[in-house]
Amino acid sequence: MAKKHKQKWSLKKKYPNLMSDSEASLIVKDLVQTHPHEAMRRHLDYLVSRGIIFLNFQDGIGGQNTLATVVYANTPTHGTVLALSISKKHLVDPATPKIFKQLVIFHEWHHLRQQLDRTKPEWLAMGVKDPGMMTEEMIRIFFEAEMEAYLPECELAVELDAIQTYPLYAVFANGGVSELRRHLAEVYAQMPRYSKFAALFRSIAWTPTLT
Ligand SMILES: [Zn+2]
Repeated sequence: MAKKHKQKWSLKKKYPNLMSDSEASLIVKDLVQTHPHEAMRRHLDYLVSRGIIFLNFQDGIGGQNTLATVVYANTPTHGTVLALSISKKHLVDPATPKIFKQLVIFHEWHHLRQQLDRTKPEWLAMGVKDPGMMTEEMIRIFFEAEMEAYLPECELAVELDAIQTYPLYAVFANGGVSELRRHLAEVYAQMPRYSKFAALFRSIAWTPTLT
C-alpha cells in the first residue's frame, strides 16, 4: 500500500502535469492558510473562498518561468474573471522552499489588489504583452506596478529572515529601495524583448515617475 503510494507520488514529481487541479488547489490553500502575513492570509482566503478571484492552473510545461501571475481568464461558466494563474510544475518543485512560494504569492496579492482596487490599468493583467506595442508611458506604469509588488515582497523576506531564497532579496537587504529599483530595471533592460526600452528602464530606475 505504502509502496504504491510512493510510486504514484514520484511519478507526479517527474510529471507534475499529472497532478489534478484539485490536488494543486490544496497545496495553494496550505500556502495561503499558513502564510506568515496575516492581512494577506485573511484577504486572499476571503477572495478565493467567495469566488471573487479564481485559481487558474497551468501545467508549467512549455516555457513559463514563473510560479504565479495575475491574469484575466476566460471561463465557460463565469465569463472573464480575475485569476491567480499558478504553474503546477513550480508549485510542486521540491527544490523551491515553501517560504519562497509564499513570498511569490504575497507579490501576486499586490497585483490582485491593483486590479481589484483599479489603481493600475487592466492591460497589466491581460497576458503576455508585446513590447513592440508598448509605449514609454506603458513601460513606466509596468515598472512601477512591479515595484509596488517587489518592494513589500523584499521587505517581508527581510522580516522573515528569508533573504537567501532569492537574489533580489539580498540586493534589497544590502542596498535598500534605490538599489532594488536599479537592479530590477537592469534585469528588464537586459531582457531581449525589452531591448528597445533599455535606456528608459535605466532612467526610470533612478527616479520614480508620477503615474
Ligand atoms: Zn509582478
